[in-house]
Amino acid sequence: MAQGRIKRLQSAALLQVQLLKAEEQAICALCDRPIPPALRDAHHLIPKSRGGSVTVFMHRACHKQVHALFTETELARHYPTPQALREHPEMKRFINWVQDKPSHFNPATRRSRRKGQI
Ligand SMILES: [Zn+2]
Ligand SMILES: [Zn+2]
Repeated sequence: MAQGRIKRLQSAALLQVQLLKAEEQAICALCDRPIPPALRDAHHLIPKSRGGSVTVFMHRACHKQVHALFTETELARHYPTPQALREHPEMKRFINWVQDKPSHFNPATRRSRRKGQI
């Protein structure tokens, strides 16, 4: 009888682990690769300033690329889905390029140069 309880506890713990794993293995909405937790950004499909609340996970590098290419108005009007973003020719080029890189790839120099500008 005690064993049944232990089993339940174990499966609860297992579930916890699985949830944590799912959390860790967020997939980038742009390049479709796993995102290490430290490099995970939430992107508003419709910018917050336009009243959007739905977010998707992206690599920091992928996310920066999105905002380097598109204004908030363009995002809200033309690219409110990961699909639409991926179909833009410049994004396609970026995705092809970034897919060869390790998933923890994060262009550090660019990041520090941009620091404080956002
Ligand atoms: Zn990515
Ligand atoms: Zn964003």
